[in-house]
Amino acid sequence: MTDPTQPFRIPAEPWYRPVADEIALFEAAHAARMPVMLKGPTGCGKTRFVEHMAWRLGKPLVTVACNEDMTASDLVGRFLLDATGTRWQDGPLTFAARHGAICYLDEVVEARQDTTIAIHPLTDNRRVLPLEKKGELLRAHPDFQLVISYNPGYQALMKDLKQSTKQRFGALDFTWPEHGVEVEIVAHETGIDPALAQKLVAIAERARNLKGHGLDEGISTRMLVHAGGLIAQGVAPLAACRMALVRPITDDPDMRDALDAAVTTYF
Ligand code: ADP
Repeated sequence: MTDPTQPFRIPAEPWYRPVADEIALFEAAHAARMPVMLKGPTGCGKTRFVEHMAWRLGKPLVTVACNEDMTASDLVGRFLLDATGTRWQDGPLTFAARHGAICYLDEVVEARQDTTIAIHPLTDNRRVLPLEKKGELLRAHPDFQLVISYNPGYQALMKDLKQSTKQRFGALDFTWPEHGVEVEIVAHETGIDPALAQKLVAIAERARNLKGHGLDEGISTRMLVHAGGLIAQGVAPLAACRMALVRPITDDPDMRDALDAAVTTYF
């Protein structure tokens, strides 16, 4: 029989540059089957980290990008109609729990509350998932682990995880890597010269100071990797920075001028 988790196995090591002791802590949490919350702004390495950890632990990884239209059925599963009648189809959470995968719910705060509540019985010592429509009480595979990401910056008043959800997880904080580490990441990911990567990081550091003063989010590591990628394609650094670092994050003409000016001091 073919292994249904095969498509979810990570064949080659996803390169991840550790920033602190997150690898050892995650390994311990996995061994204890503790659900883990990765907290931090978008584009700071959370997804890369979970991919790396799944590879390191030799576990399949099921990733779900959460959104506000997602229902509990999208996560848990539903009956489908086919030529022979109805057939149950596991949703990604059920699939992961049944087959012992790591289930990564990205931006879980985006999901509706009934969806978030569906994870509760899986995240306490019951480790079960009631499939009410199917009449099955699924006991999670011993290797199953739930990981969620959470951007504390987005927690608008109406949109936050309930304490009863938060308290089921151990949490790891992610933030922008320290200067030298971020230079290393940008140079490694794009192949550009570290001296050039250093300038990109310096621009991001300036922009990050503007967060809350007209910018909702700072320039992320992901954006720096984009800029470096354009430069590696032969785009002039100035144009690459405008396209990858400035234009995506603000439409405000004054803020664009301020960021463009920061770019021109380096290029
Ligand atoms: P998030 O999930 O936090 O939104 P990602 O994990 O997708 O962000 O990170 C965006 C990109 O930044 C990655 O694709 C990778 O190129 C780079 N990156 C960020 N942090 C690291 C790190 N510590 N090691 C390796 N790459 C990283």
